[in-house]
Amino acid sequence: MPEGPSIVILKEAVQSFKGRKILSVSGNSYQIDKERLTNQKVTSFKSWGKHFLICLPHYTIRIHTIQSLPPRKLTELINEARNYSYDFLAWKKAFVLKKHWLIHTKKTCPRCNIPVIKKHLGKTNRRTFYCVNCQLLYKKTKKATRTVKHQ
Ligand SMILES: [Zn+2]
Repeated sequence: MPEGPSIVILKEAVQSFKGRKILSVSGNSYQIDKERLTNQKVTSFKSWGKHFLICLPHYTIRIHTIQSLPPRKLTELINEARNYSYDFLAWKKAFVLKKHWLIHTKKTCPRCNIPVIKKHLGKTNRRTFYCVNCQLLYKKTKKATRTVKHQ
């Protein structure tokens, strides 16, 4: 099965994390044991068809993606998530994290001056804030995650 462009872009974008240790894990997947992933070293990232693989010393996480996010937007999302993780750490250490939140806990979008939507989304009912004007909704994304034990 040929790899989709978004999988190839994803694989390229995460290569700098190869050999790095996983410091924390979050998300709404109930199919993986998040605690087991903490402090594991990523040995490699691989892809196969629509499967994206995160290889760890004793097992591999397989993510099957069926998504409609355009590849360029996926690249932007990955780059911004990476940038934000470093900003987050720096701001948290400097006790200025809340100062940089643009929409989290806000009542009005600072860009559009319209009410912010607050919802509890996902399987964990995570509190989420968004602006219907700024936040583009792409077609529904399906994702399945599995942990595969090495033989
Ligand atoms: Zn807005």
